[in-house]
Amino acid sequence: MRDADDEILGFFGFHMFLPECRSDEERKSAEATLKEDISPVFPYINARIKAYYNPDFPFIRFKWKGHVVTLHPHKIMVSNLMDSQEAAEIFKELRLFINETWLARDKIKPSFEVRKKPPVPEILKRLPKTNCGRCGYPSCVAFAAALSDDDAELASCRPLYEEEKYQQARKELEELIL
Ligand code: SF4
Repeated sequence: MRDADDEILGFFGFHMFLPECRSDEERKSAEATLKEDISPVFPYINARIKAYYNPDFPFIRFKWKGHVVTLHPHKIMVSNLMDSQEAAEIFKELRLFINETWLARDKIKPSFEVRKKPPVPEILKRLPKTNCGRCGYPSCVAFAAALSDDDAELASCRPLYEEEKYQQARKELEELIL
């Protein structure tokens, strides 16, 4: 049984990996496996920041300083990292944020609101539509559908990040998707 004043998340280690569909890229992802079940804090985080929260298959996803963070009951995943030093800093900040949210829960009204999926046509019209396949999907339509279903990460579409002409579309997509 957890004491009311206890932090929900203790110290943990992590490992880094290259996302499957981006084996040629320098940016990595990191994953931490947790001893604790942190899912009780999800509705409080959902009340504090813009996030995707699914209470049925509990996970919550949000943006954190240019990284996509996904919290599962026993796992934290962070995308778009340069190296393990950056990963360690982000994990340290996340641990503070999660514990601070948990300890302040008496003052936060929990939110169980589930954000609606972004419509595929709204995503597609902002993608480059070159069907280059660099995201690991055969077409921009397939990638748009995966983004809508939360099965892909926007950063997998490298043209969006590399070509200046897509800068505005990328910003709009970052708002739409998270
Ligand atoms: S990387 Fe981007 S432009 Fe290329 S197919 Fe995927 S979504 Fe389309």
